[in-house]
Amino acid sequence: PYSGPTADEILRKRKEYLSPSMFCFYDKPLNIVDGKMQYLFDDSGRRYLDAFGGIATVCCGHCHPDVVQTIVNQTKKLQHSTILYLNNEISDFAEALASKLPGDLKVVFFTNSGTEANELAMMIAKLYTGCNDIISLRNAYHGNAAGTMGATAQCNWKFNVVQTGVHHAMNPDPYRGVFGSDGEKYAKDVHDLIQYGTSGNIAGFICEAIQGVGGIVELAPGYLSAVHSTIKKAGGLFISDEVQSGFARTGSHFWGFESHDVVPDIVTMAKGIGNGIPLGAVVTTPEIAQVLTRRSYFNTFGGNPVCTAAGHAVLKVIEKEKLQENAQVVGSYLKERLNALKDKYEIIGDVRGRGLMLGVELVTDRQQKTPANAEILHVMDQMKEMGVLVGKGGFYGNVFRITPPLCFTKEDADYFVDVMDHAMSKI
Ligand code: PMP
Repeated sequence: PYSGPTADEILRKRKEYLSPSMFCFYDKPLNIVDGKMQYLFDDSGRRYLDAFGGIATVCCGHCHPDVVQTIVNQTKKLQHSTILYLNNEISDFAEALASKLPGDLKVVFFTNSGTEANELAMMIAKLYTGCNDIISLRNAYHGNAAGTMGATAQCNWKFNVVQTGVHHAMNPDPYRGVFGSDGEKYAKDVHDLIQYGTSGNIAGFICEAIQGVGGIVELAPGYLSAVHSTIKKAGGLFISDEVQSGFARTGSHFWGFESHDVVPDIVTMAKGIGNGIPLGAVVTTPEIAQVLTRRSYFNTFGGNPVCTAAGHAVLKVIEKEKLQENAQVVGSYLKERLNALKDKYEIIGDVRGRGLMLGVELVTDRQQKTPANAEILHVMDQMKEMGVLVGKGGFYGNVFRITPPLCFTKEDADYFVDVMDHAMSKI
């Protein structure tokens, strides 16, 4: 049993010694002390079904034994900087990762986070094209350093950074966007931004295949392929931010962009790549990668032996346990059940997403799409009381984000929906 400090003691220290901007889920935050696959355990030993751990980095399951064993073994053997000497872990994992990507995408730069990966990707695009303008989507989240915060387009996550050269295009949001599901109409906005807001040439376009922080927003059909040809005409590179949608999460494909019939010039990743270990990566073509030879470029810990060994173990687990197929089968089943719930409750305005990256948007009025902010907090709290943890997000904070570890089962999906049903029936 747990014998550490109480939640109140931790909260007191947190208030005194940690960032005042840190936030927790729930009025009475949980003190989570153990994790095992799709479950989390609090300090009293109570078990929770974790339907949000996927986004918080875990794809194989909390403390997956193969990944843990790999990390322990490599830590006992050697942990060091990535630079200076040869080590097989980094090159073996780079080779394995490259084999998961299409076309000529096979040169890997490792980083420690998603932010670093996107910063590097945007710098590479600027160097390769000689241009400075980057287009990103409204409602996007790409990171919290200067460049990525500029590309991020939700005021909740932006400080007053100088964001020269960033243009935020209309979000091709099928639920809230003015053009509904007509992807080509939204794509015209990217064309217009380039024509009216730049020299006519751009460094690149960055987007998430499914917006995560933004509330599980899928890109309207036809959008990405139309935008792809527009940015190619403007000489720009297409950067696909797969930090949330990558690593088999969408079920139908290993990468989110693959359901849009386009091949990016640069792919960025983090979170699920290491099952909780700090790791990120940028993958591009040999030709584009050449730009970084103009100067020296290194990252002390990006791709260190322990993290890359963990990443390699994750790829093997995804394959061995058929987690992509599981995300597809369980995700489709879960989405079906959530859609049935939508028929039952007026408050559910939209159910969306792919695989095990699903969103449920709550509105108090289906016509006006008024965000049901108080209600979502209530349902979330009730679900916690019944032993289910779910995420929340979206620009208005009214979207349930359902992104469990990929080992989530059909029984878990049933339990999840039954609990949500019960909580909603009490509103
Ligand atoms: N891109 C996306 C799509 C993300 O969701 C996030 C994190 N929420 C990031 C980039 C930044 O990753 P990190 O927090 O690891 O810097």
